[in-house]
Amino acid sequence: MYNVKEKLHEVLSGLPAGVRLVAISKFHPAEYIMAAYEEGQRVFGESHEQEIRQKHEALPKDIEWHFIGHLQTNKVKYIAPYITMIEAVDSLKLLREIQKQAANNDRVIKVLLELHIAEETTKYGLTLDACRELLAGGEWRQMPNVQICGLMMMASNTDDEQQIAHEFQQAASFFDEVKSNYFATDDAFCERSWGMSDDYPIAVQCRSTMVRVGTKIFGPRVY
Ligand SMILES: *Cc1c(COP(=O)(O)O)cnc(C)c1O
Repeated sequence: MYNVKEKLHEVLSGLPAGVRLVAISKFHPAEYIMAAYEEGQRVFGESHEQEIRQKHEALPKDIEWHFIGHLQTNKVKYIAPYITMIEAVDSLKLLREIQKQAANNDRVIKVLLELHIAEETTKYGLTLDACRELLAGGEWRQMPNVQICGLMMMASNTDDEQQIAHEFQQAASFFDEVKSNYFATDDAFCERSWGMSDDYPIAVQCRSTMVRVGTKIFGPRVY
């Protein structure tokens, strides 16, 4: 087996205090997750509804599961009973469905709003203006079963480190804007989820609070 334990500690030892690791385990078997779990890792991220359901059923119940991929509204009901955080909320429609399904399960589900800052046109996420509009609309204030905890984004897939840093910095400034306009007194709004295997050291320089690292810990994914 790929040396998950050693790689996990390598990543963890490079993270400053205050930055949490979400270990992205998509496409990796349960044994890999257990190897990290045995080292104390409790937060795991997955991007497919069936896969996360199977892993949730099979694995220890104190694992905190984050859904990190694009989530279709019709899939929310399947993850609502157990998901801790849905990281990639990119529409009001999805937010409404999360509220509905969280209420059905008598739970509060944490969410992050996903920003689209990267240059690629194919990536999901809200433009900064769309995010401003969603928050200005105020409907989210009437969602007692949804807790908006911060922002999530992916930088462009490029070797240009300056561009990557620039995108993370844009996200960090936007976080400050949103925090002061809408969440100044809400301590729960504190998360900046950026940084993946190739760029998390840059992300932590740009005020990430949560890095989502997969390959660097679990090795290449077999699709
Ligand atoms: C797969 C994925 C990651 C992890 O990517 P690695 O390059 O394997 O670290 C992080 N965030 C999201 C949204 C992903 O889909």
